[in-house]
Amino acid sequence: MALGKAFLLFGPPGSGKGTQSQLLREKLGFSHLSTGDLLRKHLKNETELGKKARVYMDAGELVPDEVVIGMVQDSLSDFPDNKDFVLDGFPRTRDQAIALDALLNDLNTEVGTCMFLDVETDVLKQRLVGRRVCKSCSTSYHVDFAPSKQEKVCDICQGEVVQRRDDSEEVIMERLIQYEKKTAPLKEYYKQKGILVVLKGENKPDVVFQDVLKIVS
Ligand code: AMP
Repeated sequence: MALGKAFLLFGPPGSGKGTQSQLLREKLGFSHLSTGDLLRKHLKNETELGKKARVYMDAGELVPDEVVIGMVQDSLSDFPDNKDFVLDGFPRTRDQAIALDALLNDLNTEVGTCMFLDVETDVLKQRLVGRRVCKSCSTSYHVDFAPSKQEKVCDICQGEVVQRRDDSEEVIMERLIQYEKKTAPLKEYYKQKGILVVLKGENKPDVVFQDVLKIVS
């Protein structure tokens, strides 16, 4: 038995990785692993890992590789056999990408396609500053472009809709710098493997999703 193929949603903060993952989960029943969501759960539950990660996350820096890789390894072992799945926000460094290849190899699978969501920096900033998320189910909203029907209440689960601690202007700038420095070079890693597909991430989410569907189905 083996896991299904891994599809990567790759791109800068605010490029729509979470939104597309959520659509894949809802519409196609994909398993979904978001390292950002997992880390936020650790923060909320005040685990040892969460306490360690908070310092980095609040500063807009990447959490150390060994912490994130260990977390992903634990989660992958729970995924069902023969079902494709999506990774959102992982890998973010070259060492993470190499570790992922090894983890997947041990599980008799591999990365199918790396979908890069291409979005201009000005648009990213605008999206991140106005972003709001549900504390319970992580559904994403935007104060101007896609507000929840009732202020601060999630349309899906009625959970509380808040601004993420790291969506302040100062931290956003640092996250974008970290992305350019440590994560963007991975584009070349997947290009060389011949599995990088560039998608127009500035399109509306349902339009981007049509492109995603063509790749995963
Ligand atoms: P995200 O929700 O994907 O925007 O991630 C929020 C924060 O969690 C990032 O700014 C990092 O501090 C941390 N994080 C998430 N995924 C990773 C990863 N793969 N490697 C290192 N840090 C991560």
